[in-house]
Amino acid sequence: MQRIVSGMRSTGRLHLGHYLGVIQNWVKLQNEYDCYFFVADWHALTTKYDNTENLRQDVIDVVIDWLASGIDPEKSTIYVQSLVPEIAELHIYLSMVTPQNWVERDPTLKDMAKILRTKEAANSQISYGLMGYPVLMSADIMMLNSHLIPVGVDQIAHIEITRDIVRRFNNIYKTDFFNEPQPILNECSLICGLDGNKMSKSYNNDIKISDTEEVTAKKIMTAITDRSRLRRDDLGHPDQCEVAFKYWQIFGDAEQVNTVRCECEKGSRGCADCKRQLGALVNERLHDIRERRRYYEEHLDEVREIIRKGSEKTRAEAKKVLKEVRNIIGMY
Ligand code: SF4
Repeated sequence: MQRIVSGMRSTGRLHLGHYLGVIQNWVKLQNEYDCYFFVADWHALTTKYDNTENLRQDVIDVVIDWLASGIDPEKSTIYVQSLVPEIAELHIYLSMVTPQNWVERDPTLKDMAKILRTKEAANSQISYGLMGYPVLMSADIMMLNSHLIPVGVDQIAHIEITRDIVRRFNNIYKTDFFNEPQPILNECSLICGLDGNKMSKSYNNDIKISDTEEVTAKKIMTAITDRSRLRRDDLGHPDQCEVAFKYWQIFGDAEQVNTVRCECEKGSRGCADCKRQLGALVNERLHDIRERRRYYEEHLDEVREIIRKGSEKTRAEAKKVLKEVRNIIGMY
């Protein structure tokens, strides 16, 4: 069975962008592939090294959101990056063979630098650790000698460096040990934030998986609508309704979407009522996930055990790969 490795930074509670854009896809993949999903706490540290208070809780929150969303620990291996220290050793070996300019031009690093620029100026310098982000990402993938990497269309360039490093390593040490991982395109829905920008915790425009129904409904009432519509009976333009109608298209069925469109265009549907209905629909869609989330919140020992088992299993695999790598390089 082909192996897939994918991870998420430990940023704390996840939002609908994560759920629809990544996790839903993982849930499908776990039925067809040997999936390893990790919480990237070292990657989080590259930009949060001076703010580690919630680091542990953030890891737990991410895993709870995964489990609630349908990642099944019987099918997928869930682990925490820093509990597999072999990744750090592989990172060192890969750092030796990676030319500096490959790292500097890498889009992943540029994205990370953007995150940094949103922080206080005093902490916005790029650290040595952050510079190595693309190499560490490659170590994550190569540690399990993965065949496939799930990516969005806009992220294909992000994994190019891993493929380059694989080729360079294999070439320098005259081996074919590492697989050249192939991208596997995410089948997912992209959801924007309530203000029409990319959904993100730092833009404060997100709906979290863990939000209560009341909070979700309240947030949806702030979603951007057709800006040209001033009165309830003005004729609406659903395609210019920047957020609310897009959410209908994601969460509603064809009949619901059609009803909203017709009533909006005729001016017989007010935006406030429309968003109230939308809030109820989103809550309905998230009901079971939130129920499962509550279960795991009340059974934290179960969550920690899933992390422990998954990390141990990953470590065993990583040790095999590392033994081979040390041997190929000719380490003592
Ligand atoms: S009625 Fe609904 S679809 Fe039409 S503009 Fe208002 S919120 Fe958007």
